[in-house]
Amino acid sequence: MEKKKSLMKAYLDFNVLYKILIGLVVGAIVGVILASSGITALPAWISMFGTIFTRLLKMIIIPMIVGSLVVGASSVSPANVGKIGIRVVIIYLVTSAIGVTIGLVMANIFQPHAALASVEALAKDAAGKTASTNVWSVIYNIIPTSVLTSLVNETVLQVIFFSLVFGLCLSFLKVSKVERVAAAANTTYQIFDCLTEIMMMVVRGIMQYAPVGVAVLIAEVFAKNGAKVAGALVTVTVACFIGYALHIIIVYGGLLKIYGIKIRPFFKEARTPFITAFVTRSSNGTLPTTMTAAENLGVDKEVYAFSLPLGATINMDGTAIYQGVCAFFLVMSTYGRGLAFGEMGMIVLLATLASIGTAGVPGAGAIMLAMVMQGINLPIEPGTVLAGAYAMILGIDAILDMGRTALNVTGDLTCTTCIAKKMGFLSKDSVLLKK
Ligand code: ASP
Repeated sequence: MEKKKSLMKAYLDFNVLYKILIGLVVGAIVGVILASSGITALPAWISMFGTIFTRLLKMIIIPMIVGSLVVGASSVSPANVGKIGIRVVIIYLVTSAIGVTIGLVMANIFQPHAALASVEALAKDAAGKTASTNVWSVIYNIIPTSVLTSLVNETVLQVIFFSLVFGLCLSFLKVSKVERVAAAANTTYQIFDCLTEIMMMVVRGIMQYAPVGVAVLIAEVFAKNGAKVAGALVTVTVACFIGYALHIIIVYGGLLKIYGIKIRPFFKEARTPFITAFVTRSSNGTLPTTMTAAENLGVDKEVYAFSLPLGATINMDGTAIYQGVCAFFLVMSTYGRGLAFGEMGMIVLLATLASIGTAGVPGAGAIMLAMVMQGINLPIEPGTVLAGAYAMILGIDAILDMGRTALNVTGDLTCTTCIAKKMGFLSKDSVLLKK
């Protein structure tokens, strides 16, 4: 009994993302062995463990969006949404949108895919695509006619829209002069905050099970397709990391230049939060280090004390790039085709908005990827080829998350410094201004 207990404790204590990586490797080895012995499918009772994992993931998507977006949107305090606040929010959203676009460009260049396409998947896709899509209807369909129906039907964009409206109104009511309203709004905020905490706890639980789920799903993929699919994951990683690097050079380098900030001393100071984020894979966890860097750069506390915590919550450029690359990988691997133009537009919109709801904690972006897929009408259903492809991405999430978190944090610091400079909140003695 003692031994059993300590084994369980050792399992729970071991870093979850490495466990998932081990799950990926074990699943791949088992799958390859099965394939070489001519077995291409797992028995139903084993396959069930993969299905349970996919169902658990699907289960949390909608409550997760509602909770985290309401909390994310209502954490923008109206007192701060002056000229600075609006500028910060806009620059955060614009850089995230550019991030997804870079991700999609990388995906189209590298074409990462594992050729898992099955006849059923292709047929299902063709059936789904027969309905004509009117561009304007995509826009007005963002507004739900019934909030409950959009929740029940899991219409992601509508749920996002309503949650944001709800959250923004809540942020105003929280500081209402009418005491009764302010008290009720703060209680409502606490309820949604608690909902988000509960969902995070559920996610942590699911992630403890993930190594088993991923191992089974990957074993299925490898048994069916052989070892050749492993190379695809290397391509995904390369495409993401080149995307991250380009974003730093083009977007951050460009912004610093435009705002007249010296690039070298900036990156010298940004190095510490960058490395901390790379290691911890958490924007929130890196926040103290990012704030120290902003302080050292001479950014006024009035600006960074508001914009950095906000950035850790709503600004996720690295995650956005990852969404672009991985959405392409999932569609190409499953349906044997690239992304349609409309789908790419939708991914830019969804991933930008999703970044508001992505918590700054390890692995959160991978859950949002499931949401983005749901949003482009290709939900990750249990027992499908798409679920196998998604498990492949989850298997290497530890690696992808390091890079994207480092970028997320660098983005927060870059945007904060630029806005501070523009609005006169950068110290005259800052190393960023010296000749
Ligand atoms: N780990 C990331 C962060 O904390 C979020 C993500 O998983 O994309 O910024």
